Amino acid sequence: MLAELRGLNEECGVFGVWGHHNAAHITYYGLQSLQHRGQEGTGIAVTDGKQIHIKKGEGLVTEVFSKNDMDDLQGTGAIGHVRYATAGGSGPENVQPLLFKSQTGSLALAHNGNLTNATVLRSLLEAEGSIFQTTSDTEVLAHLIKRSKRTQFIDQMKAALNMLQGAYAYLLMTETELIVALDPYGLRPLSIGRLGDSYVVASETCAFDIVGADYIRDVQPGEMLIINHDGIRSEIFTTQTQMSLCTMEYVYFSRPDSDLQEMNVHTARKNLGKQLALEAPIDADVVTGVPDSSISAAIGYAEESGIPYELGLIKNRYVGRTFIQPTQQLREQGVKMKLSPVRGVVEGKRVIMVDDSIVRGTTSRRIVRMLKKAGAREVHVVISSPPIKHPCFYGIDTSSREELIAGDKSVEEIRQIIGADSLTFLSVEGMLKALGREQSGGMKGSCLACFTGKYPTERETFAVGTTRGFDF
Ligand code: SF4
Repeated sequence: MLAELRGLNEECGVFGVWGHHNAAHITYYGLQSLQHRGQEGTGIAVTDGKQIHIKKGEGLVTEVFSKNDMDDLQGTGAIGHVRYATAGGSGPENVQPLLFKSQTGSLALAHNGNLTNATVLRSLLEAEGSIFQTTSDTEVLAHLIKRSKRTQFIDQMKAALNMLQGAYAYLLMTETELIVALDPYGLRPLSIGRLGDSYVVASETCAFDIVGADYIRDVQPGEMLIINHDGIRSEIFTTQTQMSLCTMEYVYFSRPDSDLQEMNVHTARKNLGKQLALEAPIDADVVTGVPDSSISAAIGYAEESGIPYELGLIKNRYVGRTFIQPTQQLREQGVKMKLSPVRGVVEGKRVIMVDDSIVRGTTSRRIVRMLKKAGAREVHVVISSPPIKHPCFYGIDTSSREELIAGDKSVEEIRQIIGADSLTFLSVEGMLKALGREQSGGMKGSCLACFTGKYPTERETFAVGTTRGFDF
């Protein structure tokens, strides 16, 4: 469904390129293809080998960068960022990349994810005299690097990364190097590709396709890639890793044309729909999906059940973006404007409405009502993921537990609230089976925390004693 309609928002997307004469333009197009991951702010930092130049602002990629800006961003290495603000709040100062200048050189920083021990680390750093420019958790890394007593930059960075907890896919750029790092749990996706003699890195592989790059591989949990004029090299900053890729990336966040750990997202969603049809066989006339992210699952459900798939709901693409409307009431009005039922398809029919998730329930209720008003005889809601009962601390804004309808309500209670004739969620086991993944840990380990409450990482538990004096 539409992220902004429902209170489930991805925090960010990152893109980087090294060794290309048109680095800023490549990054611009890469960011455009990642725009679904964040629409509140965007920026590009470029190095010409001597200096880092930066342009950033609030808004969409097409709104922030003019032709003149792009012409000014000359260089062969670039990193870029699209942001949806959660940790640290919004505001122009929090738009990334962040740029830090010192006598020893500059450092540009772009981050996807959310640190769970940022508050503790920030207090400790401030007590030691660090002055923060932003309220973003991302900045903590730059201060930790500065505080490290190691002599080599790469060692300083490794030491700093080992102090962080939570989710992070980081792109760092100095005048002469691009450094890529993924947290020990691999919570957020991050892939590396090749564009002629250049390297590209992105949150999703759809960004490679748009710039004509070839996918090489995914960055591994606990891995750092150092890319410079000598080429690319991989280093490990910790061996204490436990693969826990965010399952919601498959269910909802990523674009259907992206591959996550070599599985196409559209195919993954179709598999979820097929599994749902096996778990929830329903006697009905048509299957429909809530645009855009639930269409693939609806096609899968229809294929498996033999019930025809129809376009029962249409998204109006040309109404204003709903995320700029701050209140729930206004957001709900946005839903009304953005989705329309197709009366000719649903009238007099028993409709299976496939959606990818339910967060607050307000949107589902509105859509069920809309379908019934358009003449649907029955509306059966089937959800291609388990109930979201717990908040996410890893960069997805799923609101607090109180706002999650499944946090304290049974499936039957939710069914009554949304007014559906039946309501079924996919099981956790069924979801893992459909995705070909496993619980946190193995090669195909997954984060399931918002469904199960079992968080793969510790939260805000960094031992104060180990950071005192930052002797690391
Ligand atoms: S808690 Fe949910 S949304 Fe957050 S990383 Fe884990 S699976 Fe993804």
